[in-house]
Amino acid sequence: MAWSARTQRTAVRVYVSVDMEGLAGISHPAPTGRTDPGYAAACELMVGEANAAIEGALAAGADEVVVNDSHGKMFNLSPTALDPRARLVQGQKPFGMVEAARDGRFEVALFVGYHARAGHPRGTIAHTYSGTPLLTTLNDRPVGEATLNALYLGGLGVPVGMVSGDDALAEEVQEYLPWAEAVEVKRAVGANSADSLHPERARQLIREAASRAVERARGGALQVLHLELPVRVGIDFDTGSRADFAALMPGFERFGDAGVRFQGANPSEAYRAMLSAIRMGGLVD
Ligand SMILES: [Zn+2]
Repeated sequence: MAWSARTQRTAVRVYVSVDMEGLAGISHPAPTGRTDPGYAAACELMVGEANAAIEGALAAGADEVVVNDSHGKMFNLSPTALDPRARLVQGQKPFGMVEAARDGRFEVALFVGYHARAGHPRGTIAHTYSGTPLLTTLNDRPVGEATLNALYLGGLGVPVGMVSGDDALAEEVQEYLPWAEAVEVKRAVGANSADSLHPERARQLIREAASRAVERARGGALQVLHLELPVRVGIDFDTGSRADFAALMPGFERFGDAGVRFQGANPSEAYRAMLSAIRMGGLVD
């Protein structure tokens, strides 16, 4: 009878969602827009932190890395500047920041360049998906993109192992995703200001944290985010007309001065409702 010394190794496939507002060196929303003269430099910062996450994941033995460009129109990362060992998902995807994770085949998700939620009193460039919500809630508690995306991925069985951004975001990670590595690349000074590490230093921290996240995924030390079902979704908009438009959708109800509410039977339904309502609200002033 043959005996093999080869140990069974758990595959770790890594999903990386990369935003821009939470990168080291970004303090103001202006350079995150495509027409700003500082946009090209912001894209270099973005690819630098994305590559750090890829390098860290692969150094820890990741089997596959897929990067999802998750900012603005979602084609910011230079395909040639990205580490060639990763695949790149770009463009105006229906599922936006969590596109290409739908089949749930990943063992861990890493969030890079993320930022605090809409309405956070101090977070740098704090918002949720667009500039129109003043507040976004799940089960009546304020949350931002990191928690929302984690909820959707959690429904697919994918845990979040690392989140990088400012210290305001790290508070939300501590509350909802305490098992994840929280990488603080800058301290939020205010909505349009930050006290940042040098990008090289931030990349080093992200590289190390991505490695630890992959090791912890392999060791089964990460959890998926579960919220009590049904999930109550709430959005307060900056104008009542946005709420009127969002409330057109079946299952939504108008709430408060400029808000809508929805009950999602499961994480996917709650997530899709949140995204759809913000997009609907964006069709009117
Ligand atoms: Zn963004």
